[in-house]
Amino acid sequence: MADSVLITGASRGIGAECARLFAGLGYNLIINCSKTRADLTALQQELEAKTGVSCLSIVADVSNSTEVNYMFEAASKRFGGVDILINNAGICHSGLLSDMTDTDWDRVMGTNLSSVFYCSKKAIPYMVSKKSGSIVNVSSVWGLYGASCEVAYSASKGGMNAFTKALAKELGPSNIRVNAVAFGIIDTDMNKCYSKEERDDLAEEVAVGRFATAKEAAEMVVDIAINHPYLTGQVVQFDGGWI
Ligand code: NAD
Repeated sequence: MADSVLITGASRGIGAECARLFAGLGYNLIINCSKTRADLTALQQELEAKTGVSCLSIVADVSNSTEVNYMFEAASKRFGGVDILINNAGICHSGLLSDMTDTDWDRVMGTNLSSVFYCSKKAIPYMVSKKSGSIVNVSSVWGLYGASCEVAYSASKGGMNAFTKALAKELGPSNIRVNAVAFGIIDTDMNKCYSKEERDDLAEEVAVGRFATAKEAAEMVVDIAINHPYLTGQVVQFDGGWI
């Protein structure tokens, strides 16, 4: 059986593009999102029809460990386990920290950081048993440099970066690589809140003068996931020379 890849937050954006690329390479897939079942099912049908891979779509909130456990049980039943884990699901929250509610804080940390713990914990035993595996955490430049009015988001991605470096040391002896990609601005729904003018201003700040496409971002994730056997514990910055 082909290796399997579990991608969280795969109904759209970077996650969906990762799914398309992995499917094109012949990997079996477990795709996930928390709400939009119709989008996920449509992607599953697209992948199976175009590539003939086996694809399981699972609606589960990755900030909830019970739902994550259920997702991994289903993945194990179908594919034996998960060979590659892409921790991609994430949400942003803009506003002054002093205005942020405890609930909003927990939502951001749960979705962006606790999820990485829940999913990695469930993925690791199978990878250890095979003495191979790869985990890629989808992070942000704000986890390295911090953004005003995005303190929780920055903290969650900073935590993800430290998690990546620490877990890579723990799993290196088992031949499991753990890396992160710190993205700059990617053209996805996450940035649909910006007006045309704001988008133009942001693009001007980027050295290459534009947002990256979701496909360009996904190409980076997939490359790190499947190539470079010596690359581990790294937070690779991919921001078009923005920061
Ligand atoms: P997006 O909003 O288009 O996609 C996010 C995906 O995560 C969706 O499929 C959504 O359904 C899913 N999701 C959200 N909460 C979830 C939950 N609790 N459980 C399961 N799935 C959940 O955004 P995107 O830009 O494709 O973002 C993907 C990742 O890239 C995120 O982690 C984000 O922080 C990171 N990132 C994005 C940018 C950017 O500019 N777009 C920059 C840096 C990092």
